Amino acid sequence: SLFIGGSVAGLAEVYTNLQKSIGATEHLLEILDEPAEDITPVTTIAPENQLDGQISFRDISFHYPSRPDLTIMDSVSFDVYADQKVALVGPSGAGKSTIVSLLLRLYDPVSGHILFDGKDSKSFPLSELRSQMAVVPQDVFLFGDTIAENIAYGKPDATVAEMEAAARQANAWEFIQRFPLGLDTVVGERGIQLSGGQRQRIAIARAVLKNPRILILDEATSALDSESEKLVQDALDKLMEGRTSLVIAHRLATVRQADKIIVLDKGRIVEEGTHNELIGLDGLYRTLSDMQFAS
Ligand code: ADP
Ligand code: MG
Repeated sequence: SLFIGGSVAGLAEVYTNLQKSIGATEHLLEILDEPAEDITPVTTIAPENQLDGQISFRDISFHYPSRPDLTIMDSVSFDVYADQKVALVGPSGAGKSTIVSLLLRLYDPVSGHILFDGKDSKSFPLSELRSQMAVVPQDVFLFGDTIAENIAYGKPDATVAEMEAAARQANAWEFIQRFPLGLDTVVGERGIQLSGGQRQRIAIARAVLKNPRILILDEATSALDSESEKLVQDALDKLMEGRTSLVIAHRLATVRQADKIIVLDKGRIVEEGTHNELIGLDGLYRTLSDMQFAS
């Protein structure tokens, strides 16, 4: 497998989507080469590095290192205040997932600044920054270990009681306790295969235990059947309470209640506002919305 060792597993945990993208190996190596910092999860955060949860993008421009000719992000600026729920929407390829990679500092912008609580993201130790963020992606990658190890990944000292409580909140306990070995069930290539919705709920349990200040959902319910989707959405709604959340959603119905919706197209912000404001603008959001509800 591609993921060997603590720091690589750390990357797998922060953003598993990378794994399936073409050229994942090359990019992981690029990333691992750069910050010679220890990025394994930490449980203690220095008081000055504790996040309140405000995020600001200031004039962010970006291209991927492998494609310097291709501008992916052009002067993107936005603010997410602490405890807000902000949605990122837009056509496929608009740059939504790239924003997540930049937030996690898997890549740094070519120009511009990302601020957390008004401070440059580069002023925080990477391990402490990432320890306060959790991502639930569309395709959850579980390492070939037990369910317990997968849940406790962001909090290695978690007790069995804490894991169970997290699994319950994630709507995962019901299926976990049906396995004869429960939390000790081995998953992945060498163990049992879980459905997409079950893997999703394991990832949510992991995020519950991690208790991040900033939660990022990247199309977390896009690939699920409707019954699974309901269980996952319900668990996600609980998880978003009391923290800053950035929600990338394909289905616009799931982001109607967001404090703010940011509409991206071709690496630029084209509209920003609440659902009602954006419907009133009669622009891209309105078009995307009409398309979805017509079908
Ligand atoms: P979205 O999440 O909105 O669908 P992405 O952020 O994934 O969009 O992609 C934005 C653009 O960046 C696309 O043109 C995509 O092909 C390109 N891209 C994404 N990841 C990489 C990468 N690792 N290397 C090079 N180009 C990439
Ligand atoms: Mg994406």
